[in-house]
Amino acid sequence: MAKYIKYELQELREDKFLEDINQIKRAGFTGVVIPAARQPSDNSINDINSEFLPLKKIVELTYKIGLEIIIDIDVFQSSYIWAHKNFSEPVNYNNSPYYQKKNDQYYPICPNNPLSEKRLENLLEILKQLPSATTFLFSELSFPFNWKANDLDVQHSQPPFCYCPFCMGEFSEYINEAISEPEQIKDNIRYWMDWRINVIYGYYMDISSKLPANDLIISIPPLSLIDIPFVTGQIPIAFLKENARISMPLLHHTKNKNFNWVFDQLRHYDLEMEEYDLVPIFEISSEDMKNIEDMDKKDFKDIIYYSWDKYYNQILVHP
Ligand SMILES: [Zn+2]
Repeated sequence: MAKYIKYELQELREDKFLEDINQIKRAGFTGVVIPAARQPSDNSINDINSEFLPLKKIVELTYKIGLEIIIDIDVFQSSYIWAHKNFSEPVNYNNSPYYQKKNDQYYPICPNNPLSEKRLENLLEILKQLPSATTFLFSELSFPFNWKANDLDVQHSQPPFCYCPFCMGEFSEYINEAISEPEQIKDNIRYWMDWRINVIYGYYMDISSKLPANDLIISIPPLSLIDIPFVTGQIPIAFLKENARISMPLLHHTKNKNFNWVFDQLRHYDLEMEEYDLVPIFEISSEDMKNIEDMDKKDFKDIIYYSWDKYYNQILVHP
């Protein structure tokens, strides 16, 4: 089993980066998971052209150290797009714009917003230059549900997708009928759900066909598989058929749960998928390290630890 750890960076400073990934290697990890986008800082957030890190260089340096690398792409989330002058927020089912709560680090962007498409085109130009051995993890390829901060109402009469004018326009075309208010969707809910599954799946197929790699992992929120299509517009089974693997961020601390919650989730997925196809993400904490380390007794091909910051501060013994 290969063990990866998520490593986030704001800018590439070569000396510091090499020092850190050397330390990661010495700590026994097989590789790193690195987000394609910079972590926002106060002075970078307004410049949309500075969103993505120099990934080609990062991959080169990582291979040089002898580590594997997974590039993590937040497909429909970007703080940089939120800062763009032409940005318009996603719209909730009650026709109010999505607003950001204080300290909420979640920046959903609508899949049908032209800025979203442009952003992915720019990103693909960068990703195309990477070696074919690179693995890609698609995070937030769903919409617009902040699963970290919210519990989910799977019984809701209208799923948490976007109802902005771009979406209304696209959906009207899809069913060949003029739809301008979220209220009208209630009568067409079946078509509407099919449509948003098509939108998400279409994005996946489009991106994956343009990437140099064939090792792809799709992240789904930690919910039961049967609820995923309704809530996120994702269809995990279709991704598996395309030979992608599925990742679940089992972030028990973030979700205010104890480790039994993680065991419960895994038991549930065990029934429906091969362990080989699962790439679980475990949140590091000193009290649960034994449980996390015991995961190597299972048949996962890869697991991801979240994150280097936590490992560095809570687990690593500093001389
Ligand atoms: Zn929309």
